[in-house]
Amino acid sequence: MSAVIIDGVQIAERSKSETAEGIAQLRQAGYPVHLVAVLVGATPAAEIYANRQAEACRNIGIDYTLLALPEDISNKSLRTEIRKLSHDPSVTGIMLHMPLPAHIDVARVQYEIDVVKDVEGVNPANIGYVFYKHVVIAPCTAMAAVELIKTTGVPLEGAETVVVGASHIVGKPIALLLTEQLATVTITHIATRDLKAHTQRADILVSAAGKAGLITADHVRPGACVIDVGINRITLPDGTKKTVGDVDFESVRQKAGYITPVPGGVGPMTVAMLLRNTLRSAQILAGVSVS
Ligand code: NAD
Repeated sequence: MSAVIIDGVQIAERSKSETAEGIAQLRQAGYPVHLVAVLVGATPAAEIYANRQAEACRNIGIDYTLLALPEDISNKSLRTEIRKLSHDPSVTGIMLHMPLPAHIDVARVQYEIDVVKDVEGVNPANIGYVFYKHVVIAPCTAMAAVELIKTTGVPLEGAETVVVGASHIVGKPIALLLTEQLATVTITHIATRDLKAHTQRADILVSAAGKAGLITADHVRPGACVIDVGINRITLPDGTKKTVGDVDFESVRQKAGYITPVPGGVGPMTVAMLLRNTLRSAQILAGVSVS
């Protein structure tokens, strides 16, 4: 048996065209959507990524501004900049490019992002709202993972799901969203004693550990739905670099029922969810009713 490969690129494109329609409708009604991305201490790689993001936004009708700030900006000045954006009525969405320089207290900066304008869903208040099932803006990667599972038709209600990784921004929000769908959820992490004992029970296995090759065929129940959130840069024996997930794709695809590739799975869907959140923020600010 070979798994069905979940095509994140194609699913993301569908989502983006729905978002583009919503953005056009808002613009027509006099509410342009304007995302400001904050980049602290630009490196060439970060600038390339930011430019790609700008293009993705402009392609679907979002006005995009990149606010580049110096690497040595103080915590106080950065918080002031974010607060200004939070109060600026012409700005409908705010995001922070990661990583931030080491001297920056990331959580304190995230607190300054207005809850409604927080298109990445990183303000702790938004994660709290997910906990209480009153979602304003959910974290993009967590939503991407759950949306990809839903496209397979594998029922979430009552499913044994195992999440590998328990970070605030990826693993835990995924577990919360899965719980909301009435899945039975096990969260595992670096201190989990016997990872396989858990993952082998999973109808749905989501890996978000950031460890290349962590999940092998031995970890997977036959026919399981495997969602690979990990993004790892590895060096091959010939010295070339390659991006891979946490899942040993070639062995696991022989055993799983569904699998996401890396690249081309959760990554593009995360971008689509960021754009969808950007629309949602603008809709809430415009007073358009959203579910
Ligand atoms: P993190 O380092 O904050 O958290 C990693 C988690 O994995 C921790 O809870 C840790 O305990 C757990 N872990 C680490 N090694 C483990 C092991 N051997 N066994 C079991 N658990 C283990 O990372 P993060 O920010 O949550 O990101 C996780 C991965 O997801 C990274 O590869 C990151 O690049 C990727 N990511 C992808 C997207 C996307 O769009 N696809 C978005 C965000 C993050």
